[in-house]
Amino acid sequence: MLDPVTREPVTVDGLSQIFSRECSKQELNFTDRWIDIPEPVRDLYKYYRSTPLVRAYALEQALGTPAHIYFKNESVSPVGSHKLNSALAQAYYCKQEGITNVTTETGAGQWGTALSYAANLFGMDSAVYQVKVSYEQKPYRRSMMQVFGAQVTPSPSMSTRAGKDILTANPHHQGSLGTAISEAVELARNTPEKCKYTLGSTMSHVSLHQTIIGLEAEKQFEMAGEYPSVIIACFGGGSNFSGIAFPFMRHNFLDGKNTRFIAVEPASCPKMTKGVFEYDFGDEAGYTPLIPMFTLGHKFQPANIHAGGLRYHGAGAVVSQLMKDSLMEAVDIEQLKSFEAGVLFAKTEGIIPAPESCHAIAATIDEARKCIDTGKEEVILFNLTGHGLMDMSAYDQYLSGNLINIKY
Ligand SMILES: *Cc1c(COP(=O)(O)O)cnc(C)c1O
Repeated sequence: MLDPVTREPVTVDGLSQIFSRECSKQELNFTDRWIDIPEPVRDLYKYYRSTPLVRAYALEQALGTPAHIYFKNESVSPVGSHKLNSALAQAYYCKQEGITNVTTETGAGQWGTALSYAANLFGMDSAVYQVKVSYEQKPYRRSMMQVFGAQVTPSPSMSTRAGKDILTANPHHQGSLGTAISEAVELARNTPEKCKYTLGSTMSHVSLHQTIIGLEAEKQFEMAGEYPSVIIACFGGGSNFSGIAFPFMRHNFLDGKNTRFIAVEPASCPKMTKGVFEYDFGDEAGYTPLIPMFTLGHKFQPANIHAGGLRYHGAGAVVSQLMKDSLMEAVDIEQLKSFEAGVLFAKTEGIIPAPESCHAIAATIDEARKCIDTGKEEVILFNLTGHGLMDMSAYDQYLSGNLINIKY
């Protein structure tokens, strides 16, 4: 990772201008294989963890596949998604370091909701920049953040330099994660001793916090007497993919396992399948460090698909390197196909999945259908990152035939 101004490798001191010191250390820790979860964070995890590992018998039956389909149900967290796993850790570290205010960006509102809840638990104020199109399309996520006490601003806004510049160039800018990150980082930078920026995806420390998902699943598979041969996760910046995949990937490297790992991105924002591997900024304004990543370019403006958490131009450094080294695969899925899969999953398993999770389900169904032809009993694990109960307007549009596919 390179400093955006000097283009020298970033240091813990440099990173901790915007992130908490502990997260900055974790980000640049290239030596420790294990980093302990602090006891107070484990205590908070107990409210919803372990999350269930569920065998989707009804979905298997509907497909007529010999495959065994399992999902890890992260939608049972209080705020409805896996994002809380990292929000609790990040809020805890900020509090430990004497921080009073945290700031962040949010797309569909999942990360913002998780962070608002976590910040409030630790007695800190939170300011969330929400991508404008989501702020308007998904008002109830905004309400949730406000219930948890957050101050929510639609981005781009006139409250920051970055927002003003973007709005001056394009007054009708719909917002993107990259833009909202610029605004949140700017706010944290202006008061570094009191306010820290937090990020819900992409960074290595976020992926680290999410590995609780895969570590639990590993133990749960032991109890089930099975082992996954294919692991599938939707892909925004890569945190839930890393979280469910990395603990199993180590057995590929160390113990001769042959699990396949598939990242699933939207066809309208395909950084892993159609992007390039190069140094790029995590945000639109160029405030974040330069990260070696698969990217569509930090100026890329993703289409307004409903899977807001997948509307991000780049991928985390570690997943990008794994992709470059062919240690994982990636596929992209059209919006209509993702909802078709989500509806089948809802009808069979009774859970309405988040539009992001629908992408993982669609790829899971593709893999399970292949097994019908080959007769192979693959054990497929996918991550159900969240429920879609705050996304019913998207399902309405899908059911009334008003959703379209958007090509890159
Ligand atoms: C944020 C989000 C994602 C995508 O983010 P990753 O960092 O790629 O995991 C997926 N699903 C849900 C429900 C989300 O909120």
